[in-house]
Amino acid sequence: MVDTVILWFRQDLRLADNPALCAAAERGSVIPVYVLDLDSAGDWKPGAASLCWLHHSLKALNDSLRNKLRLYRGDAAKIIPELARKHNAVSVHWNRCYEPWRIARDKAIKADLQDAGVNASSDNGSLLWEPWEVLKDDGDPYRVFTPFYKKGCLAAAAPRKPLDRPDLTLAQVDDDGMAVTLDELGLLPGRDWGEAMMEHWDVGEEAAEQRLEDFLEDGLKGYKSGRNFPDRDNVSRLSPHLHYGEISPNTAWYAVSNSGEGADVDNFLSELAWREFSYSLLYHFPELPVKNLQEKFDDFPWDKDAKRLRAWRRGQTGVPIVDAGMRELWQTGYMHNRVRMVVGSFLVKNLLLHWREGEAWFWDCLVDADLANNSASWQWVAGCGADAAPYFRVFNPVLQGQKFDGKGEYTRRWVPELKDMPDKWLFNPWEAPADVLEKAGVKLGDAYPEPIVDLKGSRERALEAFKQTKG
Ligand SMILES: Cc1cc2nc3c(=O)[nH]c(=O)nc-3n(C[C@H](O)[C@H](O)[C@H](O)COP(=O)(O)OP(=O)(O)OC[C@H]3O[C@@H](n4cnc5c(N)ncnc54)[C@H](O)[C@@H]3O)c2cc1C
Repeated sequence: MVDTVILWFRQDLRLADNPALCAAAERGSVIPVYVLDLDSAGDWKPGAASLCWLHHSLKALNDSLRNKLRLYRGDAAKIIPELARKHNAVSVHWNRCYEPWRIARDKAIKADLQDAGVNASSDNGSLLWEPWEVLKDDGDPYRVFTPFYKKGCLAAAAPRKPLDRPDLTLAQVDDDGMAVTLDELGLLPGRDWGEAMMEHWDVGEEAAEQRLEDFLEDGLKGYKSGRNFPDRDNVSRLSPHLHYGEISPNTAWYAVSNSGEGADVDNFLSELAWREFSYSLLYHFPELPVKNLQEKFDDFPWDKDAKRLRAWRRGQTGVPIVDAGMRELWQTGYMHNRVRMVVGSFLVKNLLLHWREGEAWFWDCLVDADLANNSASWQWVAGCGADAAPYFRVFNPVLQGQKFDGKGEYTRRWVPELKDMPDKWLFNPWEAPADVLEKAGVKLGDAYPEPIVDLKGSRERALEAFKQTKG
């Protein structure tokens, strides 16, 4: 008789290049399961946008599994051993995750399964290099990206080559009385917002592969410089697919590196390595999401201002490129990287609001919300991270707009109130002569707000606050 094994899908919602799935397929006939375990996630339950994505991703995965994906809701530490027992599984397979709460939970599950005589086997399905493989000569983790990538990653063994989809035998199982339907998981927000947001995306493994193909064809050439311009199609938009593992970084790595050579290829690979760096930081510094990596920021005099925070979240700051980014986020669940840096700098420096406020809003609104990338990036923006932009480097949102959205296409798209403003004044309408505003039909403080802070004054205030923390 063929053995029954369980494949526990997590952040690897795909069939191709899935090491745990390959191992399971070799071992026996497979019961594919997914467990929505919100309580174990504690403060890091996926946000609303992310849950919305998950709904569609599970639907796509279930379709690829010929309707055999079994869904559960609750504490995975109870559900997984219980499923193994009920279905007489000899083995449970999964790909590793690196969030601190998951590491602790998975260790306990592994021990429980082994105690019950069930084999528990985990693989690496979401990183190019394991965080414990890339260390400095003295065994400490890297805190600076360039040596991490050049001396660590590139000198280590090449990433695993992508694996083919395995020949799967799916097990016939009786109802265990525990499985729920996709709708019963309750992932959709029940508001029009989610539906409108998802119109911007195709979700699932097939869509992710198509996205990568489109990027290779249309985006990669010119990526190095084009990736800075939010109105250009040079970025891959693979981040939510990578987050949910609809495509592996290995597939992206080899597709891009096999497509040719040059600065665009190198630059894209190094961006994938930034993702690795974030994961390495999260693994070695598990308090990354909540604690400044540089302690001198612990007594930084952050402001508290609910009104300003609300204006930032809603894209109503009166600073056009900031508002464009925040509205793109709200409406699509995504924001271009350049603009993420600009809105981040505006929040923590011009508004002097804590980076964790920004992190929390992004967590709820991004379809690619990712504990490692989001925490590391916010610490980078705030200047308190391991390899951070120095705090005194304050982005000027007017210059950023003029430089990276020179024709204003991105900003006009998301801030249509300003669509008739000439390029010259688009990014600083408060300085525009009255007749220019009138001609463009813009009445500041009416249809579009006056800026909520003075950029120059707030920059100086931030630098002053920073001086106080130097210890
Ligand atoms: C304040 C802030 C918050 C962020 N929060 C997240 C987040 O929650 N989830 C997330 O995936 N990324 C986050 N990023 C990083 C980056 O903005 C996104 O990964 C990128 O914009 C995704 O778009 P893309 O897939 O088109 O990127 P591409 O330019 O096509 O890059 C390809 C892939 O490389 C990785 N990557 C690219 N840039 C970075 C980076 N700076 N750091 C880490 N990995 C990177 C991503 O996996 C991305 O999908 C954040 C950046 C900032 C400044």
